[in-house]
Amino acid sequence: MRLPQLGDLDPLSRTALEAARRAAAPAPIYAVGGYVRDLLLGRRNVDIDLVVEDDAIAVAGRLAHALKAVVTPHPRFGTAHLRLPDGRRLDLATARSERYPHAAALPEVQPAPLLADLLRRDFSINAMAARIDRHRFGPLIDSLGGLQDLERGRIRALHEQSFIDDPTRLFRTARFEGRYRFIIARSTLRLMKAAVKGGAIGHLAGSRIFRELHLVAQELSAPRIIWRLRNLGVLTAVHPTLTLPAAAFGLLERVRQVLSQAPSLPLPENAAEGEALLLGMLYLLHPKTVITVLKRLTPPHRIAERLAADHKACRNAAQKLTRAVDFRQSRIARLLDPLSPEARVVLLAVLTKGSARDAVSRYVTTSWRIVPLLKGEDLHRLGLKPGPIYRRTLAALRAARLDGRLHTKEEETSFVLQRFVRGRLRH
Ligand code: ATP
Ligand code: MG
Repeated sequence: MRLPQLGDLDPLSRTALEAARRAAAPAPIYAVGGYVRDLLLGRRNVDIDLVVEDDAIAVAGRLAHALKAVVTPHPRFGTAHLRLPDGRRLDLATARSERYPHAAALPEVQPAPLLADLLRRDFSINAMAARIDRHRFGPLIDSLGGLQDLERGRIRALHEQSFIDDPTRLFRTARFEGRYRFIIARSTLRLMKAAVKGGAIGHLAGSRIFRELHLVAQELSAPRIIWRLRNLGVLTAVHPTLTLPAAAFGLLERVRQVLSQAPSLPLPENAAEGEALLLGMLYLLHPKTVITVLKRLTPPHRIAERLAADHKACRNAAQKLTRAVDFRQSRIARLLDPLSPEARVVLLAVLTKGSARDAVSRYVTTSWRIVPLLKGEDLHRLGLKPGPIYRRTLAALRAARLDGRLHTKEEETSFVLQRFVRGRLRH
């Protein structure tokens, strides 16, 4: 494994790295962490991690100007975050060492040489650096054996206190293990188990745990990572009621499967994948347990509300569908229209086979698009007075179209005339 030439990178990365070198000069600047790891693996990673032995916030300001990026400084940690015009992220940090005032606290940091900065990192594979020189990377800086671990596919923590200082690393280990199909070094696994047993996670702020779970949920191998966390006792350490039953694994795998067919599903944005997985993880738990777990995790308010509402709505829809005999598309629409796209994904994963699944699948892939041909102004022309009746009429039209009872504008018109204009009082 070796680092590529700068010239072999995509043009935008190369431009960003060369601009970073100029912004830091005469201080040297280094590519580091996950970015170097993925360059060595030849794996696409659009997030660039950089370190300078200088004031990173000042360098970031100059770099943001050169790249027309938006910069967010974090003075407490001597870091800055850039969002480049094409959406990718660049993290710039002052080389630093850390001290944890107590277990699971946010660290106190102070400027330090690059080698100390590498030593404060989580795993050897994430603790390599390479100076950015003109047109090329300098030699790999690997004083902690990261390259050998990377070649062997091994995740190794850097010191005994690692998981106690920062228990989010428990999640990170499982995440890298699942993502790269690496092995966790035996000594590291021992440290992890001891940290879990010793109650390290109890000290961790809920929002930090949620952030880690959300990152896990976005991985392609999220099901196996979540399962690993469950088997290590990490999830019950988060909250004793977060006990996933055996069936949860299969469900998570099916959620992933449904998501991989997503191009044909109306999924609005990427971020939804993570939330669908989280919903899948919580699905089999009792609604009261979900509320308790969410209280512990304190996700952003909007996400907490949506997860709780989706959980309820999704279970409710699944229950109705398993008992149903009427699978007309209009009925499926009534059950599914209030569901978020993530809840629909989970519902599809819950319904493994049968008429309910076929009907739901047909709805989420095609029928959901069906709307009446008539619009509000057509109803007006037909003599309906504007008011709530419009919504009801359009809903009835849509239901009839969904069930294949109406096809043309003429049919819709006579449907409205018969049921809503002449016979208005009947409804
Ligand atoms: P990903 O590919 O998921 O972004 P990453 O390794 O790049 O993984 P980031 O969160 O982007 O992770 O962090 C960048 C680098 O910062 C890591 O590679 C690691 O060196 C260091 N780092 C991040 N989080 C921690 C942590 N909790 N403890 C120690 N070092 C960390
Ligand atoms: Mg990263």
